[in-house]
Amino acid sequence: MAPALLTAVDATSHVHLIIGSNPLASARCSRSVEVGATAILIAPEDATLHYSLMKRIEDGEVQWIQRSFKEDDLRSLGRAEVDGVVDAVFVTAGGKENQSTQISSLCRRLRIPVNVADAPNLCSFTLLSTHSDGPLQIGVTTSGKGCKLSARIRREIAASLPLHLGDAVERLGTMRRRIWEEDHAVELSQDIEAEEEDIGQPATFNKLVIAESAEAARGRRMRWLAQICEYWPLRRLASITDTDVDALLRDYTHSSASKVINTTGIEDSGKGHIILAGSGPGNPDLLTRAAHKAILSADLILADKLVPSPILELVPRRATVHIARKFPGNADKAQEELLELGLEGLKAGKVVVRIKQGDPYIFGRGGEEYDFFRSHGYTPSVLPGITSALSAPLFAAIPPTHRGVADQVLICTGTGRKGAPLDPPEYVPSRTVVLLMALHRLSPLIESLTAKGYPVETPCAVIERASCQDQRVIRTTIEHVCAAVEEEGSRPPGLLVIGNACGVLRQFQQKWVVEEGFKGLDHISAVGDLPVLGAKASVLID
Ligand code: SAH
Repeated sequence: MAPALLTAVDATSHVHLIIGSNPLASARCSRSVEVGATAILIAPEDATLHYSLMKRIEDGEVQWIQRSFKEDDLRSLGRAEVDGVVDAVFVTAGGKENQSTQISSLCRRLRIPVNVADAPNLCSFTLLSTHSDGPLQIGVTTSGKGCKLSARIRREIAASLPLHLGDAVERLGTMRRRIWEEDHAVELSQDIEAEEEDIGQPATFNKLVIAESAEAARGRRMRWLAQICEYWPLRRLASITDTDVDALLRDYTHSSASKVINTTGIEDSGKGHIILAGSGPGNPDLLTRAAHKAILSADLILADKLVPSPILELVPRRATVHIARKFPGNADKAQEELLELGLEGLKAGKVVVRIKQGDPYIFGRGGEEYDFFRSHGYTPSVLPGITSALSAPLFAAIPPTHRGVADQVLICTGTGRKGAPLDPPEYVPSRTVVLLMALHRLSPLIESLTAKGYPVETPCAVIERASCQDQRVIRTTIEHVCAAVEEEGSRPPGLLVIGNACGVLRQFQQKWVVEEGFKGLDHISAVGDLPVLGAKASVLID
């Protein structure tokens, strides 16, 4: 069976016909009223109605037509705007099968969406099991495999969400609208200003716009908003406040340097300390104990946007988290901002933990950051992390060195400086090349590799979100890798591994194969969570 098309219907002022008198009819009426529709119940005069339904009828929320269903109801009880045809029909009365079949086919003929309880073959649509939190709605369907199960799944999903997420959705929506309106107000006011100048009147109401910032801020604020929606841990997003929103908007209207949001009040005390720690490729189980301890001891956490949320969730409540506002065109500024924030914290005597994805010294500007803080009198402690460059191949069953196949590994970037094309390393058949930051401009990269003598049949793999639940591996060859990525789309962050080592443990015949999901630690997690750091495990001695 093909999957159903899930849609969200604006049912405001629609007319819903509910046929039947059982408790389900009551539930249907309530739902219709909730979504702003007019609920009309059709049930005989002598029907015993559920107490709550009776109440709704008495309160005038539901209209009760006290008789049995008539064919003409479908075409006469609806809105005038649609010639009286009703907008949806719910048949809740079980038992009267003939009538249900008849109503269902009448509805189909009139193109009225129809739902018959416990009769999937008579339904043209089904209702989802929904979780509602303000503007956020989540619907689950098991495609008729079991409504109890879908309710359970819906509950589990809802339980895993942070509190107040609906409010955050509302706020972020408002923010998005404000940015849009302000950006367009700039255009508008510029037009008016021009006109006013023409007639010799000064433009006085346009003070908000600062010459440099207007143009630059425009795309930047929208991009920043897109980035926080994509990368901030949901818990952090859910706790976003109006003050945060104001601060973010102000920040980017006036392109001022740094502002922390959610600062917990910096006080001057003692000398601060900075720890530069690697977070590993993404899975929190791949943090080192040292990095975990550092996170637990932090007052201020400065993280990259790549550091995944399960790791940020380990941050203690009292600590402030700042996530680098890196997005195309803002990398240098974001980096400066982050360093300044770190320095501010250090001067205030804080323990500042700078978490970097993977290993801090592999393409993470870790060396530069070390240098920066040292030059300001704060020499960082540096904690290694498991680099994606070596763990991603491992979790994709690729041993970067393998006797008789590969005797060397090269880790390099796939992007030249300032986005320039890369001069690729020479081709060595026994070498595995791991290219980071290589997937956004893949075709010029592959062209330059083939020009350099890499045989097109060389096996390679694109490994994305290694060690995360949504890890994906695409195994292919240099010849087909661009087509594969184009067709499968991208799931950043990802890297490219090239070399005969890619074909050692997994072979494939097709142009490419895709493997979804991460199972690398399944047997480890099955043992249960490690004791919380600091808690002593008990040792039994015979
Ligand atoms: N210091 C990091 C690398 C930073 S550069 C490390 O040691 O892993 C950022 C690049 O790392 C991304 O463009 C991507 O190529 C790679 N990367 C980081 N995490 C990854 C992951 N979980 N899976 C695949 N690639 C990853």
